[in-house]
Amino acid sequence: MSQAPYPPGGYAYGPGQGYQQPGQPQVGFAPQQGYGPAPPQQQGYGSFNVAFEGRVDRPTYSGSDVPAQDMFDNQFAKAPVPSAPPADMFAQYSGYENTRFGSSFVPPPPPYVPPPSSEMPEQLFQQSTAISDDQARDAMLQFVSEHCCYGKTPAQEMVIKDIVPSSAYHYSLASFCESRKTEWQYEPYRGQPIDSPVNGPAPLPWNIPAQPQQMFSDFQTKLEVPHTANIKMSFFCYHKLNKIFNFQPCHDCLAVGYIRCYKCCGRGRLRCSRCQGSGFVQEGMEQVQCNICFARGWKMCDLCNGHGRVKCWTCMGNAQLKTFIELTVKWENNVSHHVVGRTEQLPSELIVNSQGTEIFSQELPRVWPISTFFDQQVNMGSKRLVEEHSNKWPAKRILMQRHVLRAVPVSEVHYQWNDFASRFWVFGHDHKVYAPDYPQKCCCGCSIL
Ligand SMILES: [Zn+2]
Ligand SMILES: [Zn+2]
Ligand SMILES: [Zn+2]
Repeated sequence: MSQAPYPPGGYAYGPGQGYQQPGQPQVGFAPQQGYGPAPPQQQGYGSFNVAFEGRVDRPTYSGSDVPAQDMFDNQFAKAPVPSAPPADMFAQYSGYENTRFGSSFVPPPPPYVPPPSSEMPEQLFQQSTAISDDQARDAMLQFVSEHCCYGKTPAQEMVIKDIVPSSAYHYSLASFCESRKTEWQYEPYRGQPIDSPVNGPAPLPWNIPAQPQQMFSDFQTKLEVPHTANIKMSFFCYHKLNKIFNFQPCHDCLAVGYIRCYKCCGRGRLRCSRCQGSGFVQEGMEQVQCNICFARGWKMCDLCNGHGRVKCWTCMGNAQLKTFIELTVKWENNVSHHVVGRTEQLPSELIVNSQGTEIFSQELPRVWPISTFFDQQVNMGSKRLVEEHSNKWPAKRILMQRHVLRAVPVSEVHYQWNDFASRFWVFGHDHKVYAPDYPQKCCCGCSIL
């Protein structure tokens, strides 16, 4: 009985024999600096363990593609990329002729039929509010105190010449859209229920019920298209499966559930990386037996436990696949803004993000543009955005639209400080200030160069 943890039964060379070739010296292999990093982990296959349970002395892999000699222990050996499934693995279903594996098909949504304009609801607008002069001055002092580098002096000393109150209008249109795409998929067949065409024809992509969790918020869901799971009979019978199966045999392992180990190439063992397979290492002037491989020159393959084969990760060792069409339903909210204001200097995004009074709000499958507001620029902006949205996304269906009009109070404040005369703006119910040319913007009240 050998002392080795796994005796080399069945192999042509025993302990101490190493890999010597006739005429080749036993010495000359540089001792290895221990073992390198751990073998590479399976990438992208989750926690699926490719190794078969239990170590074996003889490889269980029986393919004809096993090399004559053990492989060197390559720590960087990579799992082969799973092969693409053959085109005939997927059936043809009415309404899904353009659905592929590996790329999604976007079926166009059903056409939109607009309701008659007599159904247009009345458009009513609330009153907006303005701010007082005192509030404008207080806002400026608050604004300066929030900027630690700004000098207080101008705010305290400035003479307010005039305050021009006005309202800015922020119109927003939100279109909540749905899009759908289909793609062939496969998964390991583990005996799960199969909803095949014997249950009826597959419903068309846009006829499959799917509801968003919440209106006006983004979400995506994936579901199996009913009655598309594959029951196509295999066109040739695989030798390992004696029964007639209804399911697709795995194309990667040819329906046996395993493939040749990519590290040892089927031999179940690897050349010892310390002695390079010779069984001996040089220690000083002396040549001694390798204590890693017990002078055998090889070690068991740590990837396949000596089997020479690993589980197929395409079918997870199940040998069969279920194919089906997957429908992806995506909901997304698309919002556009239109700002109308008396003061062009005030950036629109400040108005969009400011506090205002909601003076109009409406939610309909398709809104009619605002047309009766006193400010024609608001009416025109609404018309433009509603038209834009109506044909912006031909591949999507608009489920619901919401448009909101807000009035934001804006005060243009004219002031004088020493010889400097300028303006600032106070806007929103929270009295935010926009003062692009405030005279003291850096520390200690010094002037900006
Ligand atoms: Zn192996
Ligand atoms: Zn060794
Ligand atoms: Zn497989």
